[in-house]
Amino acid sequence: MTQGPRFVLAVDQGTTSTRAIVFTHAGQIHSVAQKEHRQIFPRAGWVEHDTTEILRNTREVIGQALGRGNLTGADLAAVGLTNQRETAVVWDRTTGEPVHHAIVWQDTRTARIVADLGREGGADRFKEVCGLPLATYFSGPKVRWILDHVEGARERAEAGDLIFGTIDTWLLWNLTGGPDGGVHATDVTNASRTMLMDLRTLSWSQDVAAAMAIPLSMLPEIRSSSEVYGTSRKLGVPIAGILGDQHAATFGQACLARGMSKNTYGTGNFMLLSTGTEIVRSDHGLLTTVCFKVGDQDAVYALEGSIAVTGSLVQWLRDNLGLFEESADVERLARQVEDNGGCYIVPAFSGLFAPYWRDDARGVIVGLTRYVDRRHLARAALEATAFQTREVLEAMEADSDVRLSELRVDGGMVANETLMQFQADILGVDVVRPRVVETTALGAAYAAGIAVGFWDGEQDVVGNWEEDRRWTPAMPEEERERLYRAWKKAVTRSFDWVD
Ligand code: ADP
Repeated sequence: MTQGPRFVLAVDQGTTSTRAIVFTHAGQIHSVAQKEHRQIFPRAGWVEHDTTEILRNTREVIGQALGRGNLTGADLAAVGLTNQRETAVVWDRTTGEPVHHAIVWQDTRTARIVADLGREGGADRFKEVCGLPLATYFSGPKVRWILDHVEGARERAEAGDLIFGTIDTWLLWNLTGGPDGGVHATDVTNASRTMLMDLRTLSWSQDVAAAMAIPLSMLPEIRSSSEVYGTSRKLGVPIAGILGDQHAATFGQACLARGMSKNTYGTGNFMLLSTGTEIVRSDHGLLTTVCFKVGDQDAVYALEGSIAVTGSLVQWLRDNLGLFEESADVERLARQVEDNGGCYIVPAFSGLFAPYWRDDARGVIVGLTRYVDRRHLARAALEATAFQTREVLEAMEADSDVRLSELRVDGGMVANETLMQFQADILGVDVVRPRVVETTALGAAYAAGIAVGFWDGEQDVVGNWEEDRRWTPAMPEEERERLYRAWKKAVTRSFDWVD
């Protein structure tokens, strides 16, 4: 690549904020812009986003990132999209108006729908088809809820007037023209989080859609993760990569080969282990998901351990308890004490995801004595992230023959050195941070750039990856196991809270 545009832009539409990042051919960040959006909590357990705000922020950060880098659309070879997954949007294909706020992945309002669906065949009713257990987390039941609760929505959907998309689809459709020729498509990774896609055929399952009473006409076309879907109207640049955020991070971390794995520490934590072209079903509470699919090559699959609450527990201590001003302050507090003072926080705010999948769980703080103060709470919050990660790692080792020798990490929380050291201690394996920690955006950029020939292929992704920092376990084995046992006991205290 010697001539032509020298950059690729990625939009990372996350749960808390939207980022636009311009990358160079060496996979380095050239310029960046970011904006947070509102978290809407209409009732306990409900979480919504204003999709119009998300679209506005997306356009704004794209403009800012280009402006800061002194660039125009002509400098871009391609645009990649990556997004918070499962979050569901339903809108009118003629006006472009959403019929409801987006229902966010953490939202538990579909508990009743999910329980009803599971009455026949149990929680694993659709697992053989889609690789997922019935849970409030996934998009299908959220779409069903909108069709059931928004006046007139079901009739309009059946008449073909309403369409559904995860956030990638919402952005792609709008950026490529909206009602005026917008492309209604998604990629295999996002589709694999709806419960509606058959993992083997990579097409919509008529059976699951019928069971959930979702008209097939609402669903976007399923495409690969790396191909030209359409052209951004404003920039005149091909949109050529789409990956759900965790899949993008796996790609950006160059965890492409079977047996490689990464863990992302953001709002929640998500560990993915590539299983190559093999679909591995989990017996230990993990999800089976599509890892990525480059053009017409075979799809690569992954096992995933999803943890709903990690970084958002830090936000909760900050915003709901007012323990500190900025997320990063949690480390300053936690470092002031040697240990958690016997206190454990199990942040089952949205029930518990992997490896438990319990909608009935709610958050608990246990082990309180008069001795515990906010420093111990700060520490317990960080430790909760590390303990939950160990549970997921154990499930991965039990489900596959892989023994992890090191863990590649990324996401907002990996700036926290105290957490990273504790993570290495509790896992007993090295924790490794790459030089570019914006792996989510980077993965989407790679997918887009490969599709247009800006990068030759996956060997460029592997070649550009560089280690920045490594944390090595330093805690005695006995101590590690004692703490972990106490955590496991704390988890049981969160069960059976909601009927
Ligand atoms: P997402 O992509 O899910 O929106 P990010 O990867 O941007 O999330 O990470 C943001 C999360 O990381 C927030 O929940 C925030 O509370 C947490 N976080 C950010 N900095 C720190 C820090 N230094 N220590 C602990 N948590 C942090």
